[in-house]
Amino acid sequence: NFASAAVDLVKVYGSGDTAVRALDGVTAGFPPAAFSAIMGPSGSGKSTLMHCLAGLDTATSGAALLGGKDLTRLSDNTLTRVRRDRIGFVFQAFNLLPTLTAEENILLPLNLAGRRADRAWFRQLVQALGLSPRLAHRPSEMSGGQQQRVALARALVTRPEVIFADEPTGNLDSTSSTDVLNLLRQAVREFGQTIVMVTHDDRAASYADHVVRMADGRVVQAVAA
Ligand code: ADP
Ligand code: ADP
Repeated sequence: NFASAAVDLVKVYGSGDTAVRALDGVTAGFPPAAFSAIMGPSGSGKSTLMHCLAGLDTATSGAALLGGKDLTRLSDNTLTRVRRDRIGFVFQAFNLLPTLTAEENILLPLNLAGRRADRAWFRQLVQALGLSPRLAHRPSEMSGGQQQRVALARALVTRPEVIFADEPTGNLDSTSSTDVLNLLRQAVREFGQTIVMVTHDDRAASYADHVVRMADGRVVQAVAA
């Protein structure tokens, strides 16, 4: 009974001589209301796995389950709705909209879903992430670390069932990293959200309840932390 799971997932990029088998039969489960980390060397398939599990990329074969439903079998419309309503994604490249302020970027998913902000949760998020003095700034006026925290707030604001975060502490100093990791843990403990985080960082992984290790497109170890 997993919040998110891969079943014999295969992803091949390209074809012929230049084909890359980024996922070579990955089976892994991410328990609900838990904080999981995916670790492994660069190029081992971590980002590809997360993109497939979040319905952002289509696998070549196998199943990408969200709450038991195979995302690879949904129509585009249904998949768009599932992504919007049930999944949060923190991209490595932030993907913030340059013309919007930090506050507008954070509230965007709520606006897109036609939902009202829970102001108390919004304030708590913004404060925990140290973004209060930055809300009126645009991404170009913020540091990489600040942009990363805005991206994280945007993923958390709707309280989705599952949040996928690609190296969420990658651009942060150690104080900001600790704030972000504590916030992710709080989302799990207080709101029962499921977090799946890709990280290179052993300290970040030590916050996780569960660690999946990948190498060459395969899972080489899955352990409770
Ligand atoms: P990381 O390995 O830390 O995830 P990468 O630099 O490998 O970061 O990948 C960043 C983005 O570039 C990802 O979205 C990935 O899908 C894409 N990418 C990675 N390798 C290739 C490649 N060989 N050709 C095209 N796109 C790639
Ligand atoms: P990781 O996140 O562990 O660094 P990735 O999932 O980004 O690994 O990449 C796994 C493999 O797939 C790498 O060999 C990478 O170059 C390749 N790859 C990733 N994205 C693309 C892409 N869009 N096109 C071609 N190859 C890709």
